[in-house]
Amino acid sequence: MKRVLLLGGTGDALRIARQLGHEHVYSLAGLGKVPDDLPCAVRVGGFGGSEGMARYIADERIDLVIDATHPYAAQISANAVKAGGVARVPCWALRREAWQPQAGDDWRMVGDWAELTAALASFKRPLFTLGREPLAHLDEIPLQQFWTIRCLDAPETHPRARILATRGPFTLEGERALFSAEAFDVIVSKNSGGSATEAKLEVARECGLPVVMLRRPELPAVDREFANVADLLEALRVSA
Ligand code: NAP
Repeated sequence: MKRVLLLGGTGDALRIARQLGHEHVYSLAGLGKVPDDLPCAVRVGGFGGSEGMARYIADERIDLVIDATHPYAAQISANAVKAGGVARVPCWALRREAWQPQAGDDWRMVGDWAELTAALASFKRPLFTLGREPLAHLDEIPLQQFWTIRCLDAPETHPRARILATRGPFTLEGERALFSAEAFDVIVSKNSGGSATEAKLEVARECGLPVVMLRRPELPAVDREFANVADLLEALRVSA
């Protein structure tokens, strides 16, 4: 059986990790919860760039790297491909499909924080569902705006922001209740894909709310790419 280094930090990665035996390693950056009930080994923290990861692959006699990180975690994905190249082990990736706008959607695509704030200029009550990045900009909240920021933890407080510390999956009913209670006038999102956080898009559509969508970063080519967990696990089983 090949020894796998699985790069994770997503629900999909956790599903893969649950299927890996004790000889494999699940790697997390250390920002979120560290599972303590996995059959495989778990390591936490950065490797020290692609060179550090290449050294880890050699030292731990890893045969295959699987990148199942979030589609916006571009640095670790680039490092995985580089490290695999240096250590001469293949790199596979789980690349879940992006959401596509549907009839009635009003998506406004932006590339970075400056474009994002420009796109929000005419709104009053944005809901940010981008993770922690807005927390670094609390002092820049325009006078006419009140921000709601949904992310994993709420280390800050601010008189013109509400920070909702919560993790998905989010249901349609829950999103409807939140949207109606908070009267958002725009939603800010990454195009994460998958079903766990998709309900907000459906409710935005129902309410006729625009979505300011941060474009996906470019990710490097890998030896094999999978769109879902089942296909990846099957390929792993066949290659064992
Ligand atoms: P990133 O910008 O691509 O990576 C920054 C650095 O964090 C990497 O260079 C690496 O440090 C370390 N790192 C990231 N993922 C790692 C992993 N699985 N194992 C070990 N080290 C890791 O990543 P990010 O956007 O900060 O995301 C960090 C973690 O959160 C990832 O596991 C990702 O899957 C998860 N996540 C991210 C998002 C998002 O929107 N970005 C959303 C949900 C979950 P070294 O260079 O020192 O190795």
